[in-house]
Amino acid sequence: MSSKVAVVTGSNKGIGFAIVRGLCNRYEGVVYLTSRDVEKGEKAVADLKKEGLSPKYHQLDITDIKSVEIFSSYIKASYGGIDILVNNAAITFIENAMESVAVQAEKTLFVNYFSTLSTCEQLFPLLRDGARVVNVSSSSALLKYIPSENLRQRFLDPSLTIPELSNLMREYVDAAKMGTHVGEWGISPYVVSKIGINALTKIQQRLLNDQDIKVNSVHPGFVDTDMTTQKGHQTINECAQAPLYLALDAPDSVKGKFVWSNMWIVA
Ligand code: NDP
Repeated sequence: MSSKVAVVTGSNKGIGFAIVRGLCNRYEGVVYLTSRDVEKGEKAVADLKKEGLSPKYHQLDITDIKSVEIFSSYIKASYGGIDILVNNAAITFIENAMESVAVQAEKTLFVNYFSTLSTCEQLFPLLRDGARVVNVSSSSALLKYIPSENLRQRFLDPSLTIPELSNLMREYVDAAKMGTHVGEWGISPYVVSKIGINALTKIQQRLLNDQDIKVNSVHPGFVDTDMTTQKGHQTINECAQAPLYLALDAPDSVKGKFVWSNMWIVA
């Protein structure tokens, strides 16, 4: 029988790195540490090897469709499928970034929402029976941060489709480009991108309900990584716990949910 396979995107550092570490310690299968930059990824693998762990490595840039296709073909040919997929890779802009809101909105949504989506579209056909997908979200992915009641209702529509959600994400980018976003969408592209991830999670689960596949999103906690620019009080290992819980331990009844770092189901 083919080995079980776990894949973590953006895992050369930060929480993704700790998720790979946790999987290597606990999962009876092959664990792929992936990164957009090969040198950084290989260094991360070498660091885990010094701890006695044995992750495998493959390049994977979620924004580069060719890179995702190469990875997908490689996994299909080598193992036939994926059992755990952790969509961890994401970006944010620092508080006082020089880039305009329009640029920040376009880039953040492109990486965090649209590239996570296109990576899923490429990798979901490989998900095997019993597979678990963990979409790493954030505590800022709460709808209360979207000022417009009309927009909140559109996100909450139980029949929302992926094309409709993607249109919502585009509407936000367009509003940011016109400078009309604040009243309806609030000030943070990161918040909108992660609200998109939570909504996407629910739709993905709905579309997979006739299969034995669980998709959940998670707020991992708050840790000092490059993303939070030296803020946050937890460790990366602590922040890996909730993603690991969803990947390995959560009961099958937990599906299409948004789970907090203390394992509470928020939505
Ligand atoms: P880091 O910035 O430390 O790590 C982000 C990872 O994503 C890096 O490995 C980065 O690679 C990778 N990445 C970025 N763009 C791409 C891409 N196009 N393709 C592949 N990989 C990419 O962030 P964290 O560890 O803090 O965050 C991990 C996840 O947790 C994110 O989804 C984040 O939104 C979420 N989160 C984090 C919180 C925190 O307190 N830190 C709080 C709530 C949520 P590279 O090194 O090349 O840049």
